[in-house]
Amino acid sequence: MKEGDRMKIEKYCIRGNMDFHLCDIKTGDTSRLSRGPKAEEAIAGNILELTKLQDVLYAYNKYGVLVILQAMDAAGKDGIIKHIMSGLNPQGVQVTPFKVPSAEELDHDYLWRSHGHLPERGNIAIFNRSYYEDVLVVKVHNLLESQNMPDDLVKKDIWQKRYRQLRDFEQYMSENGIVVMKFFLHISMEEQANRLLERIDNPDKNWKFSAGDLNEREFWTQYQNAYEEMIQATATVAAPWHVIPADHKWFARLLVSEILVQRLKELPIKYPALSPEDEAALAGFRKQLTDSR
Ligand code: AMP
Ligand code: MG
Repeated sequence: MKEGDRMKIEKYCIRGNMDFHLCDIKTGDTSRLSRGPKAEEAIAGNILELTKLQDVLYAYNKYGVLVILQAMDAAGKDGIIKHIMSGLNPQGVQVTPFKVPSAEELDHDYLWRSHGHLPERGNIAIFNRSYYEDVLVVKVHNLLESQNMPDDLVKKDIWQKRYRQLRDFEQYMSENGIVVMKFFLHISMEEQANRLLERIDNPDKNWKFSAGDLNEREFWTQYQNAYEEMIQATATVAAPWHVIPADHKWFARLLVSEILVQRLKELPIKYPALSPEDEAALAGFRKQLTDSR
């Protein structure tokens, strides 16, 4: 795609110190684009570009990329992962889903379970949910007790402290060559109902339905507030949040793929160049091989 034709993504990118509210971005927004072959072509083009960029990232072997996906149930995280992954070399990507913590995980500080899953240099790690659950579901359902924190540390300011810890953690990653890209798939309550109904009505999707999702719907407003506060507090220059209108799956896929391409293109990555000595050695190896044929 020509650079001048690229989508404008700034509107969806929250970098911190901005007066941001979730209602600023409409869940049904499509950036004046419409669904159809043109959009599909653009998504396919982005996936192809991502494939090439991943190849360079892998060869360069210095930066790692961490992609974080957060959303309410049925907002399309799994679909986005399938789409992005479809073009990537499996050798350089790991996907980690973050579920209800195990007893072993609860016996540690809340970032413990993330460390081992951060990307190796040259790799892309995708977090399907993440440590952000520790300021979302844990806050909405008041689960701090199960986290075995010392009583004197569980105070009202704990969320502000966690936001600061997450900002620091992401700053640390960024200063160590890990590029953090955070996406919130922003869906309306109505569209979530449509998708949950589809899971009930379509036998091939029955397995995806969980009664727990209905229970979480009861807490919709609390979750929206928690997401808004989390984005306001943890969007930084080093690790911006991207708020993705997700009522239209095609648009969410287009926008996420576009943002990934644009961010990766900004990285100073390249195929490693050979030193003059290595090049000379290569010429020697070529001669050796040709002579031995
Ligand atoms: P799913 O992604 O639909 O498979 O569901 C995973 C569930 O695990 C979600 O309901 C999350 O809220 C929950 N979960 C993830 N991380 C945590 C956490 N740190 N504490 C409690 N629940 C969590
Ligand atoms: Mg679920």
